[in-house]
Amino acid sequence: MSQPAHTIGDGARALWRWAAQSPLIASGLVAALAAAAALTTLNPALAGDARLLLFVPAVLTGAALRGFAGGVLATLTSLLVLFAIQRAPITALELFEALAFIAIGLVIAGFGEQLRRAEHEIGPRTEALDVREALVKSIFDAAPDAMIEIDTDGRVQTFSAAAERMFGWTAPEVLGRDVSMLMPEPYRAGHDGFMHRYMTTGERRIIGIGRVVTAERKDGSTFPIELAVGEMHVDGVRSFTGFIRDLTQRQETEARLQELQSELVHVSRLTALGEMAQALAHELNQPLSAISNYLKGSVKLLHEESLDRPKVLDAVDKAAAQALRAGDIIRRLRDFVARRDAETRVESASRVIEEAAALALVGVKDVRFRLRADPAVDQVMADKVQIQQVLLNLARNAIEAMQGSPQRALTIETTAGEDGMTIVSVADTGPGLSAEAAAQLFQPFVSAKPNGMGVGLSISRTIVENHGGRIWADANSPTGAVFRFTLRRAHV
Ligand code: ADP
Repeated sequence: MSQPAHTIGDGARALWRWAAQSPLIASGLVAALAAAAALTTLNPALAGDARLLLFVPAVLTGAALRGFAGGVLATLTSLLVLFAIQRAPITALELFEALAFIAIGLVIAGFGEQLRRAEHEIGPRTEALDVREALVKSIFDAAPDAMIEIDTDGRVQTFSAAAERMFGWTAPEVLGRDVSMLMPEPYRAGHDGFMHRYMTTGERRIIGIGRVVTAERKDGSTFPIELAVGEMHVDGVRSFTGFIRDLTQRQETEARLQELQSELVHVSRLTALGEMAQALAHELNQPLSAISNYLKGSVKLLHEESLDRPKVLDAVDKAAAQALRAGDIIRRLRDFVARRDAETRVESASRVIEEAAALALVGVKDVRFRLRADPAVDQVMADKVQIQQVLLNLARNAIEAMQGSPQRALTIETTAGEDGMTIVSVADTGPGLSAEAAAQLFQPFVSAKPNGMGVGLSISRTIVENHGGRIWADANSPTGAVFRFTLRRAHV
């Protein structure tokens, strides 16, 4: 049973292939087949005057298959078939009908030709586009950097294989959703605003610039990334492509390097301090023993019966001069310690904070980081490296303090302070400051940690004060500590 069906199916396919390839015979054949089928299956009386309409599908097929020639041939063949099987002589009305049919056939053939040309033009172009798309996709998938394309509403259009690996989401889970799902707060909430601002004002925060920010994986953990965004306009449609590099490894190395460096600095500082203490003892010894000698001499003079006032005055004067000299030595020492002036420039506080936080959060799990920046007080005068050192110290202390806490949230905030200052606060949800620590905060070498040096806060204070600001600590509510410091605002 299946054999004939198979044969008929094969035969029809072969006929179709042949018809599609042979321009002239094709259309004629289609027309003849359609006409014969129509006239044998339909009652000729039923078809009546409209019988020429029965041939329209044949003309359409001819034109669609072979363009103008196919359409014309199908029209003529249809007429020939019709008149051939009609026994009665042709009337004037039928002739008119035939002419109208030819006119319609020509129009259809014209359309068919246009269609074929368009197909000819589009065909290779679509193929080239397909090849290009496949190429782009393979680049997308092979690149070590993740690539994410979004439309102007921030909806994800493309999510590369590297992005799947980096974020833990699969492409189908992300496509069509808002890209802010890949960012932690506050960027998540702020992203629509940034996009809108860029669309309406052209103000760039990331596009074409590239910067270090924090991203969020599917499991909620955050990690530092370097993000560069390019803008595309294709056929009037705008889209953005983000290239993302995971900085976790690089920053781990950098953090370790920085740690080593600060340890080195610390050790060399201690050595220098020891040497300085010796030099100081030596230098101070002279004026101090001179003072002591002059004063002892004066006491002796005062005990004598006949008081030699000018001599006593002279000795006390000299003692005072030596005291001034000792003071001078101490002042020089202080200048030496605080020698490095801060090289301040106008910086964006939020950017300085973002980078420092990204560094502090390397390798840290389950800490929710939030940045609440007031854009009105964002521009500050700062030595970026030094202020990042302060932020790093404060953020690390906060993260360490929260190790045993059920809730671990690190919140850095910028707010307006008095006298043109910006207050930067670093708040945690740890146990807060112990009374003992609070009493000795910012003093060097005071630490509650087994491996703590107790220098972080004292260095932070020196840096902040060199910037003309101050640093202090408060209790956070309901639990934890908040360290605050001020920076001078630019342009106030
Ligand atoms: P270190 O971290 O090496 O101990 P620091 O000067 O940075 O040195 O800190 C001094 C001390 O202040 C810490 O040992 C700790 O007791 C206390 N401290 C600092 N930050 C916090 C905080 N966020 N929460 C609780 N205690 C803190």
